[in-house]
Amino acid sequence: MPQKKQNIKKKLLTRDRTISILSSDGLIRASITKNTDSVSQAQKRHALDYISASLLARQISAASLCASFLKGEERIIIEIQGSGPIKYIYSEALSIGEVRGFVELRKKLDTENINSFRDAVGIGLFKLCRIVYNKNIPVEGIIPIQKGDIASDLAHYFNQSEQIPSAVSLDVKLSDEGDITQSAGILIQAMPGADIDLLKEIASGIGAEGFSLCSLFAKDYSAEDVLNIVLPFDFSVTRNIQTDFFCRCSLENFKSKLIALGAQEIQDMKDKKQNELVCRYCNEKYYLSDNDFTELLSHLQVTSN
Ligand SMILES: [Zn+2]
Repeated sequence: MPQKKQNIKKKLLTRDRTISILSSDGLIRASITKNTDSVSQAQKRHALDYISASLLARQISAASLCASFLKGEERIIIEIQGSGPIKYIYSEALSIGEVRGFVELRKKLDTENINSFRDAVGIGLFKLCRIVYNKNIPVEGIIPIQKGDIASDLAHYFNQSEQIPSAVSLDVKLSDEGDITQSAGILIQAMPGADIDLLKEIASGIGAEGFSLCSLFAKDYSAEDVLNIVLPFDFSVTRNIQTDFFCRCSLENFKSKLIALGAQEIQDMKDKKQNELVCRYCNEKYYLSDNDFTELLSHLQVTSN
């Protein structure tokens, strides 16, 4: 194969993807995500240390895995509220493949003295929220944080809150410098009537020492190849979507939200030259020009008359 074609093939193979499948008997569903580029971008955008970045990556994977069973613009938001040096982790995935997220620290992480994810997040809450069509309010479930490694938390959440027996593996590899070099996750769920022993067997396979999703992807296996290795049954692919770090923020969006602050507050911002707006989800910075301030103030003037 010519070099150029080979490069394109490799690029397609390594592109971030989330795939969901259904077993041929219809009783087990699974999803798998490989999202190295998306979560690396999250790490860079938020300038995260390697522990925060690993946790955010795992949590973004978890959201993508759950979102792949939804449709269109439906989405999953996962939040961790902890008592440790990491105060809060937010991840969001739209069914169509957009992901974003951020981490809030109580203080800068002393990474040398953190030996587990539990050390980093402490105790607290794991919350999963599903925003779906035809429901006016989001569907939410909350459990206490388990190990804080997101995988145990997500599996426990499904077993406990939704009574769906589930197996989860989330994996992140880092360079010596602490940059994410590979990230992937898998979620397998038993539907009513499924063979629970089979699910347990799969769970112990993906939970075994030495099993690493990232190592499989590093061998250039496709997501389908990995599913074939992990799942001892025939299946059909029900969805296969590209996954990207993407945030829908824009200056116009910010401006429409600023209106709610009222004229006085906006005038104050203008006077103090506070014109920088930062998106918490993607860390993008926007700047209000004098024209933007004038436009906002005159809009408020008109609506108050
Ligand atoms: Zn944003």
